[in-house]
Amino acid sequence: GLSKKLGDVLGRLRGRGALNEADVDAALREVRLALLEADVALPVVKQFIDGVRPKAVGAEVIRSVSPGQMVVKIVHDHLVEMLGGEASELNLNAVPPVVVLMVGLQGSGKTTTTAKIARRLTLGPQGMAADAFGGSFKERKKVLMASLDVTRPAAQEQLRILGEQAGVATLPIVPFEQPLGITRRALDEGRRGGYDVIMLDTAGRLAIDEQLMAEVAAVRDASKPTETLLVADAMTGQDAVNTARAFNEKVGITGIVLTRVDGDARGGAALSMRTVTGRPIKLLGAGEKIDALEQFHPDRIATRILGMGDIVSLVERAAETIEKEDAEKLAAKVRKGQFDLDDLLQQLRQLRKMGGLQGLMGMLPGAAQAKAAMQKANLDEKVIKRQEAIIQSMTPKERRNPDIIHASRKKRIASGAGAQVQEINKLLKQHAEMVKMMKRVNKMGEKGFMRSLGNMM
Ligand code: GDP
Ligand code: MG
Repeated sequence: GLSKKLGDVLGRLRGRGALNEADVDAALREVRLALLEADVALPVVKQFIDGVRPKAVGAEVIRSVSPGQMVVKIVHDHLVEMLGGEASELNLNAVPPVVVLMVGLQGSGKTTTTAKIARRLTLGPQGMAADAFGGSFKERKKVLMASLDVTRPAAQEQLRILGEQAGVATLPIVPFEQPLGITRRALDEGRRGGYDVIMLDTAGRLAIDEQLMAEVAAVRDASKPTETLLVADAMTGQDAVNTARAFNEKVGITGIVLTRVDGDARGGAALSMRTVTGRPIKLLGAGEKIDALEQFHPDRIATRILGMGDIVSLVERAAETIEKEDAEKLAAKVRKGQFDLDDLLQQLRQLRKMGGLQGLMGMLPGAAQAKAAMQKANLDEKVIKRQEAIIQSMTPKERRNPDIIHASRKKRIASGAGAQVQEINKLLKQHAEMVKMMKRVNKMGEKGFMRSLGNMM
């Protein structure tokens, strides 16, 4: 099976330094198979692999992790990023009644999902776990649903029944009325009735066709939706790309709802649709029941698509252990006042790797108090890179004994780093003050130490 083959590759790769091209390509061959097995569309697989490869080649393999495992972690992180990083909320920021337009192929779950979202909005925070949904669900909304599906005889009736079960109002059915007529009536009723949200459930076809797209586009123009959600079945395989592209080009979608994630599909459609449209996946349908609606979490779907969750958490645990060890080593040095320029360099790198202040904050004690002070100090990436370059131009001996850095050495360091001698002076002064402060840390307590550190940088 796949995981055995991957295991073999990982075994072969075990125990080398930075990731070389051969390591990466061997591991990526298995990742490619995993993505195809998860039903990610072929062109998206290719694009994904091309995107992650340069991130992996040359990357440091962290201690106690094999190169293959490291590649899997890098792939996972890239996958999370491609899936949108953070969970994305429903956007209802418009003058009410806010229109939400539901589009998609027939049988994708539009009508069911319309009722699910409407019920969730109607309930507001009631019966909801604190972090279950984003802010758009944190207030009760008055919702009106309308079915524009005149192609199937029972479609409007289906929504009416769901509305009754869910305790959500539906627009009364008028026989033989056409989609645009229903849309106008829904807007009128929405305004007249003081509704916050109008959900328009459109008809689907078994496959994309021009007539469907023209009809949906006309409804869009008449209703000016704030959200246009493409509802798609998680089982959609290679077709996901065509479906998503067609709806996005012809109608313009703002988000995607993936349904039937309760089935055994690995969910590759999520990556395909997100990649092709650039639109976020906002919600998941996880069953036929009215409350089977979930927040989308990119990391969970990434793990499911890749099917290598064990490896990912193993690498994460290893990384945490190392960070903890490094932090402890640093803390010991700080206590003894032995914080040299190598330590400063390491801190600057950490700071930059973590994307700013959080890194240093997490590693040093008494974090929160100093944060404001450090933000004020404007420690942006450019400044950090410059300071790194200066320290890198020093010899190991100079880094351990900054006292020996006199005029001629300063000149050499400055020209090596493409900097002015004043900048070298400033950095050395900062470092000296940091060390002085660190020696006093026990007397002052952590709070005062961090505040002073923040003021100096
Ligand atoms: P529409 O044609 O796009 O409006 O699709 P429907 O909402 O009528 O759904 C078609 C079928 O899929 C119905 O039997 C639903 O109960 C079922 N369905 C919808 N969403 C889900 C889901 O998230 N999980 C499962 N298991 N079934 C779903
Ligand atoms: Mg329907």
